[in-house]
Amino acid sequence: MTIDQIIHKVQENNPKADIALLEKAYEFAARAHGSQKRRAGAPYIQHSLHTAFVLAQIKADLSTIMAGILHDVPEDTEYTLEDIKKEFGSDVATLVEGITKLSKIKYRGVERYRENLRKMFLAMAQDIRVILIKFCDRLHNLRTLDVLPEEKRRRIAQETMEIYAPIAGLLGIWRLKWQMEDICFKYLYPEEYKKLEYKYEVEKKTERNQYTQRVKNILSQRLNEEGIAYNIEDRLKPLYSIYKKMQKKDRKFDEIYDVFAVRIIVPTVSDCYKTMGIVHSLWKPKSDRIKDYIAVPKPNGYRSLHTTVYGPENKPTEFQIRTREMHEESLYGIAAHWYYKHKGGSDYKNQPKWIQEILNIQRQTENTNDFINKVKLDVFQDRIFVFSPKGDVFDLPEDATPIDFAYLVHTEVGNKATGALVNDRMSSLDRPLKNGDLVEIVTEKNRKGPNTDWLEFAKTNRAKEKIRQATKSSRFEQFKRIIPGMKK
Ligand code: MN
Repeated sequence: MTIDQIIHKVQENNPKADIALLEKAYEFAARAHGSQKRRAGAPYIQHSLHTAFVLAQIKADLSTIMAGILHDVPEDTEYTLEDIKKEFGSDVATLVEGITKLSKIKYRGVERYRENLRKMFLAMAQDIRVILIKFCDRLHNLRTLDVLPEEKRRRIAQETMEIYAPIAGLLGIWRLKWQMEDICFKYLYPEEYKKLEYKYEVEKKTERNQYTQRVKNILSQRLNEEGIAYNIEDRLKPLYSIYKKMQKKDRKFDEIYDVFAVRIIVPTVSDCYKTMGIVHSLWKPKSDRIKDYIAVPKPNGYRSLHTTVYGPENKPTEFQIRTREMHEESLYGIAAHWYYKHKGGSDYKNQPKWIQEILNIQRQTENTNDFINKVKLDVFQDRIFVFSPKGDVFDLPEDATPIDFAYLVHTEVGNKATGALVNDRMSSLDRPLKNGDLVEIVTEKNRKGPNTDWLEFAKTNRAKEKIRQATKSSRFEQFKRIIPGMKK
């Protein structure tokens, strides 16, 4: 890896970038690391460059890429954070500081895991770019894992699987998530990995290529007739995701791998809909598999049209139809999102709401264990979107119930709730909601307050807190009636 490769990549995304700054960061880091070597014997600066290159690939801004080149300087060389600040200013220095703090974890075992998670969350809440650098740093470390002793290798792979990969998913940086997972999969389950790799990448490859070619031929003709510029790709699925699916559904490879997957990238949103029309006119769609994530994006911002049709030879074929911008957002998540919003500028202050939630939870919690449990529950899992009758969108964790929705709307709506209408049907307060549900809470004005057994099915901390508060004060009211003069 050379600095020129990075410069080239940066210029591709942002022709106006100040290349002189990149070169300066490179010279500084090269001087600082001097003749230091990595374990495998490569010059240390190679690690810095690889980290920076992946950052450039995911379209991170210039400060982040510079910080990527400099990320191990204060920790491993004679140069300090102060030196970096003097040379490159406080934006770059703050990022490098964030990375340095993140790497100092002295605990072992479970404690180490918890502390790591806590630090990741906090760093993320302060400046999400720190986490991007950490991911790219970790990815290169994973790629050079071979040289480490078995025990250390396993620990790093395990930690990546449990902490890094899920957070990358949360930020929608799927490309990094999949790359990290597939490497860890190889180290954690070598036998299973080899078997699956052979089946997917050798046995099935010819069949897949021939089939995709057929679909392409038929489609290209129609798309050309309609004058739509297109790009059709065969979609390779990450091995670990196939493995997980097999585990979860307890199925064999051939049962899971029964669907062909094709992606079409077209210039505009209206081309997306036109293309879906063409696909449906060629092959019969499975009606329950048509998804419009352009009109209603997923909670993490994912946009695309999905449809599964009975393709040539009646084989189920899954289509994803999207624009180039949507495609890059789906690979690079939050990084690409900002890139497109600000065209190379860096407004990283504009962070998703759940990051603010992490900070709030941190303020309310002293104990590390509680903190992690709460973050995991409220933030660190898949989220769903539900709608109010007025069309407002509410963002909830998966498996949330109408009572969580009620307390999100308003404390009083929660306290006075007696039931719910979900998609215009009566529902109990404990039935889990699904993405896209339309929820209306039925309230009773004279209702005294919530039941303590709501705590058993409330999923969000917000709802649980509110229920506890309300039941505590109503119990106090009851006692007061029995024991006059009692003080709170
Ligand atoms: Mn590093």
